[in-house]
Amino acid sequence: MLVVEDEPLLLRQLSQALTDAGYAVDTATDGAAADFLGHTESYDAVVLDLGLPKMDGLTVLRRWRESGVTMPVLVVTARGSWHEKVQGIDGGADDYVAKPFQIEEVLARLRALIRRTSGQMTSELVCGDVALSPKLARVTLAGVPVKLTSHEFRVLSYLMHHRERVVSQSELTEHIYAQDFDRDSNTVEVFIARLRKKLGSDLIETIRGLGYRMKAAS
Ligand code: CA
Repeated sequence: MLVVEDEPLLLRQLSQALTDAGYAVDTATDGAAADFLGHTESYDAVVLDLGLPKMDGLTVLRRWRESGVTMPVLVVTARGSWHEKVQGIDGGADDYVAKPFQIEEVLARLRALIRRTSGQMTSELVCGDVALSPKLARVTLAGVPVKLTSHEFRVLSYLMHHRERVVSQSELTEHIYAQDFDRDSNTVEVFIARLRKKLGSDLIETIRGLGYRMKAAS
């Protein structure tokens, strides 16, 4: 998740709430940094304030879209500024929220955006006996809650969101760590091993040389 916001308090509240909800969060406080990150990293979704120093949010968004960056973007607009909303949507935003907002509303909109882009219309992801609720950050096995660490949850959530295809180890690594963490792709194997131990050995297939895939529901 990328959060772009130049107000320190709001940035802190947003990144804290998203981290608590189980996302790996990168932050940027100006448009130029956001522009760079959006072009170099792949995010599940972006929260983008429009009023930013160095490069305004709308320009950042247009630059991303012009160069084929398609990740879902939730723009944050000034209160009552209908033209900002219109420009944001014309510029390629997937949704918007006006300041001041409740953090819960931002979280709900982001969940909906991620669901929409990954083609999942239900709020709970199910694979065999395993069910994952992004909203509650909860996983159950045959209806019984299973305790996962935040990294285990991120790995499982990413695999379940992309269950129709093979996910490479490097792609998983990118999605479970915020950029300022040391990225050690070997740890992905550890998380996969722990998930298999907790949720069943045949839940996640290893596709040799390519990565991992959720086992198709039988
Ligand atoms: Ca601002």
